[in-house]
Amino acid sequence: MNRTRTVAFHTLGCKLNFSETSTLSRMLEQEGFEKKGFDDQADVYVINTCSVTDNADKECRQLVRRIQRRAPGSFVVITGCYAQLKPAEIASIPGVDLVLGAAEKFNIARHIGELSKENGARICSCDIEEVSGFNASFSQNDRTRTFLKVQDGCDYNCSFCTIPMARGKSRSDSIANVVKQAEQLAAAGVKEIVLTGVNLGDFGRGADGNNRYDENFYGLVQALDKVAGIERYRISSIEPNLLTNEVIGFVANSDKFMPHFHIPLQSGSNTILGLMRRRYKRELYADRVNLIKTLMPHCAIGVDVIVGFPGETDEHFKETFDFLHSLDVSYLHVFTYSERDNTRALEIQPVVPIAVRNERNKTLRNLSYMKLQYLTQQHSGQERKVLFEAFNKNGMMEGYTDNYIRITTPHSKEWENALVEWKL
Ligand code: SF4
Repeated sequence: MNRTRTVAFHTLGCKLNFSETSTLSRMLEQEGFEKKGFDDQADVYVINTCSVTDNADKECRQLVRRIQRRAPGSFVVITGCYAQLKPAEIASIPGVDLVLGAAEKFNIARHIGELSKENGARICSCDIEEVSGFNASFSQNDRTRTFLKVQDGCDYNCSFCTIPMARGKSRSDSIANVVKQAEQLAAAGVKEIVLTGVNLGDFGRGADGNNRYDENFYGLVQALDKVAGIERYRISSIEPNLLTNEVIGFVANSDKFMPHFHIPLQSGSNTILGLMRRRYKRELYADRVNLIKTLMPHCAIGVDVIVGFPGETDEHFKETFDFLHSLDVSYLHVFTYSERDNTRALEIQPVVPIAVRNERNKTLRNLSYMKLQYLTQQHSGQERKVLFEAFNKNGMMEGYTDNYIRITTPHSKEWENALVEWKL
């Protein structure tokens, strides 16, 4: 394996996965690997999988087939949530050489060094209960915006979710470490940091997931607010029961934390929320949104919602629709429920027919479209600051206002990675 020098990555799933892929890539580059595009020839291909993606298995197979056609002698490494959940299944895919579970992911350089074509696929994985320790990660594609992972794992047991099985117990970095990383990113020219985690609001349990909170999310945002050079922070997604009034109040008064939240709701029916084992009722969710909008009328609020959860009748769905319709939120991320092995939701009846799930998804996506149009119209004519990305996409560039309205405009070099006052 000494001559192996090129590596290519493909990431499926969430922002956390993207930031981890970025870190894996930097680790291998430090070991002397040259990074290639996934469609280029490479000696090693790494696929970072996701368990939330539908058809993770099918997608993985297709990607491996693509690799085999392009570079038949290359090594294929599969890691990420799906690799932790179904290692044997993945190892049986023809062409896979190595499956790395959650605990081994960040030892990738060593494992690649030991690869050989001789003994079929190797699985390096352990039970998720044994996974502890925190691996800091951040993505850095261009200098503008970075996803910084500050927390991993989850101790909740939502009945539809496999993430706790794939990522282990809730654990996090220390405030001091996160601040240090933010300072380094600022020195590298990064202007915006998006704080990410599996259950971000649960920040503060330390690297080994203590039962007590040594620190908390409110302390983290206060400390980060003081880092010179970072102009913007966003909170990627936070559970409504963990989004405290203190945090909302702090964001409202901060110049650096953007008026933008993403708060998973999942259902607007208390009955379904109960079946999902979520830790709040719709009334709490509405209170959070109302407080945010009272303090920051211009704030963008994104919502995750799942349709077609077992037991969701037309009445329950209507409750969700009416609730979201009446709430002053800005856009929805709509997920169609799909069955996952080893989850409690499988025991809930009746199952919603696929056609009904798809229909409900469409209805909510239409609602989301209307909400987003409304957000844009509401601010039309206002001046807001846009941070433009350092990218030239076919002569165009993109950026976001503080409250997450996307602006696309002809490319201008001087606006790259700059905050520009913009008339909407
Ligand atoms: S809060 Fe629920 S949905 Fe989110 S990761 Fe934890 S168990 Fe999964």
